[in-house]
Amino acid sequence: MTNIPPCPRCGSAETRVVAESPIEGVWKMYGCNHCTYLWRNTETLEGIKTITEEEIEAAVLDFPPPGQGTMSAKE
Ligand SMILES: [Zn+2]
Repeated sequence: MTNIPPCPRCGSAETRVVAESPIEGVWKMYGCNHCTYLWRNTETLEGIKTITEEEIEAAVLDFPPPGQGTMSAKE
């Protein structure tokens, strides 16, 4: 029975279990496929900063794929 909560940060339902405690049932770590947020079910999620779609896009753009950013090669 897997009951994965939606992402506390962006509200996406595209979440998965990333890791579980060595002793079963102590904690689970969840990950969001949408904004890449990671959290444990034991964390207090009250007051967590939620983010907008624009902020998710900006965060994704922090990791450009290899081969990009060669604009200075041409003088
Ligand atoms: Zn998320």
